[in-house]
Amino acid sequence: MSDTTINAVTGATIDSVEVSAYTVPTDAPEADGTISWDSTTMVVVRARSGDVEGIGWTYGPTACATLISDQIAGLVQGRSAMDVPGSSKAMIKAVRNAGRPGIAGYAIAAVDVALWDLKARLLDLPLHHLLGAVTTKVPVYGSGGFTTYDARQLREQLAKWAIEERIPRVKIKIGQSWGTETERDLDRMAQARAVIGDDTELFVDANGGYTRKQAIRVMAAAADLDVRWFEEPVSSDHLEGLREVRDAVAADVTAGEYGYDLFYFRRMCAAGAVDCLQADVSRCGGITEFIRVAAVAASFGLQISGHCGPHLHAHVAAAIPNLRHLEWFHDHVRIESMFFDGTLDPTGGTITPNDEAPGNGLTLRVADAERYRVA
Ligand SMILES: [Mg+2]
Repeated sequence: MSDTTINAVTGATIDSVEVSAYTVPTDAPEADGTISWDSTTMVVVRARSGDVEGIGWTYGPTACATLISDQIAGLVQGRSAMDVPGSSKAMIKAVRNAGRPGIAGYAIAAVDVALWDLKARLLDLPLHHLLGAVTTKVPVYGSGGFTTYDARQLREQLAKWAIEERIPRVKIKIGQSWGTETERDLDRMAQARAVIGDDTELFVDANGGYTRKQAIRVMAAAADLDVRWFEEPVSSDHLEGLREVRDAVAADVTAGEYGYDLFYFRRMCAAGAVDCLQADVSRCGGITEFIRVAAVAASFGLQISGHCGPHLHAHVAAAIPNLRHLEWFHDHVRIESMFFDGTLDPTGGTITPNDEAPGNGLTLRVADAERYRVA
């Protein structure tokens, strides 16, 4: 790169930040242990510098779009397109009174992701190379198995991942109706094991639906199913409860998807609450903060797993030395493949961030998204 080019890129500013939102109906009713839904809203940010555009998104309410246009876009516009952590710090400071956890956290994340993509595209680099990769293959696990599925739906989904795509780990939802359907939970776990065979790891996620002793009893009753991952057996806010379940079961106990700041993750790790920390780029403050959350986990000797939105995580995941895997979540995989060209292939159980295209390697199919637009 000549000096002139370097100056042109390092002097680049963020010219505009635009936001839109899309609500996409699910392909079937979906529920976990504690909530049900029939649509998912994606809030998309497009950040421009000159004629280069970076894209980011989050899965949250349309109120995120309002917060971005009212409080964040003006703050970020005019800042250096090279110095994403500077924009991150400014955004975090600005939402003090709005409250960072929740909608503001989602909003910051979507903008942060767009700014990293913009910077990588300005530099004509794949995003994982800009961040500094430690691997080219990012492990994933198939995730869905909603409590609303009947036996056929569960079988078809798990067979697609475990057999057709050879993903060696899959997760289903349990804790149905706040832990009031444990017999069905156990039946579905047994069905899942029968579908995937002995060579695929079985993960379960109760979304905080059980009590402590109940969670331990369910795992004891499922002892012959060799469950490896027990996500949110009790509420992720109940750190002592997580710790007690962790001490009593063979499966790894995990949580962290509702974390919005470093203190949250540090408290969870320091309480000995988890065997593997989870974090979500779309909530924890984007790529800038995900890297720091991973460092918190590493300082406690823990690995980190990325929650949902696999294409939000793919490139930063490749840059995390203590990454365990990413969640190949049915809902978000479906939407990301509907909205973007360049989505990744999980066959064999890993995804490889695109090495040939700048940024996140994705192109938004604007016309395809438009019919779902709500803001
Ligand atoms: Mg979960």
